[in-house]
Amino acid sequence: DTLDGARLRAEGISKAFGGNQALSDVSIDAAPGAVTAIIGPNGSGKTTLLNMISGFYRADSGSITLDGEPIQGLASFRVARGGVSRTFQTPNVPAHLTVIEAVEAGRYAADRAGILPSVLRLPRYWRARRADRRDAERALALVGLSEQRHQLAASLPLGNRRLLEVARGLVSSPKVLLLDEVASGLDEDELEMLEELVIRLRDAGMTVILVEHNFQLVLRIASDIYVLAQGAVVAHGAADEIERNPRVMEEYLGV
Ligand code: ADP
Repeated sequence: DTLDGARLRAEGISKAFGGNQALSDVSIDAAPGAVTAIIGPNGSGKTTLLNMISGFYRADSGSITLDGEPIQGLASFRVARGGVSRTFQTPNVPAHLTVIEAVEAGRYAADRAGILPSVLRLPRYWRARRADRRDAERALALVGLSEQRHQLAASLPLGNRRLLEVARGLVSSPKVLLLDEVASGLDEDELEMLEELVIRLRDAGMTVILVEHNFQLVLRIASDIYVLAQGAVVAHGAADEIERNPRVMEEYLGV
């Protein structure tokens, strides 16, 4: 299986919330077929950077491009439609949805058709809905949750809810997948499944950007690591370079 990834570049991104400079002149470059990790202590700006890339916040300055096309300032649904998908740190699936419905609903991050087509009973819309079900089944199979498809999403244990978040991110066949702390709360088996999945997506050509506290996981699967501290990139390199940098390890990562 091959997937089309896209090169995602953020250049010179700055963002302040009131007087608090959350990001200062941050640049990252994420290539297709690679896992790019963003790590750093709490409050260092990792989630803010993901929010910039996915169009939830506007940067004060800087540019973000997808295969060279500017995407900064676009509404989040347009960024999603352009092929950038993200997961959220706190899974927020509506309580009444089953697992498969929750994955189907994930698709509508990139869709603003709303209810009008269903009211008008447009055949094209219903054909698309059947395709959605197949895409959702495929996304669930990828994360190993097929057997749970008819359970209520909210009833899943935390680890499975995180995997469900990843399936929701995958259902729109993104070129770039942004994973926000997906490993936290996973047990050993779930972590292994997640790791294998990310490696499979990477090797199939997807662009994966990983914000992650599990440093060992990052060292195993990321080819490129950016270390953020107080809103700035304080180190950037391959896993072995980061691991060999005592200042980064002690001062910023506390390991
Ligand atoms: P991390 O993900 O690395 O823990 P964040 O990006 O969440 O860091 O936060 C970086 C800084 O930006 C923090 O000082 C945080 O308080 C601030 N911040 C993030 N989002 C907002 C917001 N919506 N409003 C105000 N301040 C924010």
